[in-house]
Amino acid sequence: MSRKIIIIGAGINGLVAANYLQRNGYQVSIIESKAKVGGACTSETVTLSGKDYRYASGASVLGLMQRFIFEETGLSKKLKTFVPESPKLVFFPNDSEPTIIYRNPKDLDRELRDKWGEQGNIEAFREDESRVIDFLQTGYRDAVTPNLEDARSILGEALTNLWITGDAKNLLDHYFTSDKAKIYMAMTVAESGPVSIREKSSALTIPIMDSGSIFSGYYGFVYEGIWQVTEELEKINRALGVNFYTSSKVLNVDTKTNRVNFISPTGEEKKIFDQLIFATDPLTASQLVNNSEHIEKVSDKKLLGSSGKLNLLFKQPIQWKHNIDHPDSDASFRFIFSVETLEEFEQATMSVCDHGVDYVPGFMQIYCEGAASKKMNKNLNHDRIAVFFKNLSLDKRGEDLSIVSEEIQDKLFENILNPEDCIWTNLVTPKNLQETFYFPQGNIDHIALTHKQMYFDRTFSFDPENNFYGFFNYEDIFYCGAGSYPCGSIAGTPGYMCSQQLIRLDQ
Ligand SMILES: Cc1cc2nc3c(=O)[nH]c(=O)nc-3n(C[C@H](O)[C@H](O)[C@H](O)COP(=O)(O)OP(=O)(O)OC[C@H]3O[C@@H](n4cnc5c(N)ncnc54)[C@H](O)[C@@H]3O)c2cc1C
Repeated sequence: MSRKIIIIGAGINGLVAANYLQRNGYQVSIIESKAKVGGACTSETVTLSGKDYRYASGASVLGLMQRFIFEETGLSKKLKTFVPESPKLVFFPNDSEPTIIYRNPKDLDRELRDKWGEQGNIEAFREDESRVIDFLQTGYRDAVTPNLEDARSILGEALTNLWITGDAKNLLDHYFTSDKAKIYMAMTVAESGPVSIREKSSALTIPIMDSGSIFSGYYGFVYEGIWQVTEELEKINRALGVNFYTSSKVLNVDTKTNRVNFISPTGEEKKIFDQLIFATDPLTASQLVNNSEHIEKVSDKKLLGSSGKLNLLFKQPIQWKHNIDHPDSDASFRFIFSVETLEEFEQATMSVCDHGVDYVPGFMQIYCEGAASKKMNKNLNHDRIAVFFKNLSLDKRGEDLSIVSEEIQDKLFENILNPEDCIWTNLVTPKNLQETFYFPQGNIDHIALTHKQMYFDRTFSFDPENNFYGFFNYEDIFYCGAGSYPCGSIAGTPGYMCSQQLIRLDQ
């Protein structure tokens, strides 16, 4: 008889784990507290003048997923995607022209020399990063427990120290000379939370964030919006036979009798499992097993997030002041920095740890979702962008920070010729993310990507060597949410790796 698996949480990781396990002969049930699946890969709808507009309330762009997951789950047959081939544009304060991030390292080298006075070795950086990424991707594919011995034997001592255990400051100083190049590369280190570039293991975030293979390390868009990834995966999983319990909040897990108690629209229910996977944030997981030591252990981790997102709708396509001569240029990724030196970047990143600070400008990443969808369907008229930005504290909700929303809009509109076409904006802060998505302290990776919660440490298992995705010391309970290795994002890598480990343990 097939083993009964219960997965709690229908975010990308729960859905990917369910897909692999159901296809491997398990009988999977997913219990999700919300009415619809997706977790932080989801949409909201706003009605303006009688017309409905959907927008991505959590994630926006796809890029960290592994191509094999995209194909093996069946997603590749269902989704239309688009990756802008035009170079990214970077704006620093006081620069009259944007810097163009060419894909070709030689062109990029010339551009960074001209614009930023960069004298370092970009080609060496990209070559070494590729070696680290190959190593990481092989580990993902083989679902191998991350460990330093493998890294040392495959990458060598020097690269392991520089890229895996080292800090981002040292890594960037090794390859680059200009602060602007270092800041641009350091962006991902601070993407989820206030992580210092001097923190041990902070270097590894850089190759991790480039280690998606779906678009060969680049980021792109899904037609209509990224929520299609989880909505399609739900349909695929249902067709495979996965049972879904939505609007069903798990109240607790009885670890002695292997029973889940939850409240569904029809009342209190219980369900027995052979194995259980938490695909929630780790704090919720430890609360559901009701173990004070586990709760304390998770609460002691660095959980703070500092990301905000401003969604904007325009009634006409956005006209950018600066474009490049490329057919995809309207959909180019744009990065606007408010800092010019690495020290300013560091101070802005860490400032949200101080009490009384609501917002300190650092960087804004602009995702041109409407222009990307228009590339896939010419008939779209309205436009939509998402501005993902730093550095917000956990203190206030977006609706209480209209001043921040206006500041972001002012900065953005400096680059837009038709700001009057903007018809709607919505700001979310770490506090909103905590309340909407249950991220413990608003971190988009559930827990920060930082020292002692990175790579081989990004586990909750008592026996990581043999059971990396195990949850504390429970034999039949596993954890595969964004808080586990490698990280969050719309990738599903932890969900995949956990499913493979569970299949292996059962053999
Ligand atoms: C504003 C924002 C922007 C982002 N931008 C990007 C981006 O552009 N690209 C990208 O790749 N990533 C992005 N991310 C990160 C990405 O969205 C997350 O890392 C990822 O969605 C986490 O997936 P998950 O499956 O691990 O967890 P989650 O998505 O958090 O899913 C956990 C699920 O568990 C459910 N749950 C919790 N408690 C219970 C309970 N008691 N009973 C039943 N169910 C429960 C929740 O409802 C939820 O559905 C962004 C995140 C945010 C918030």
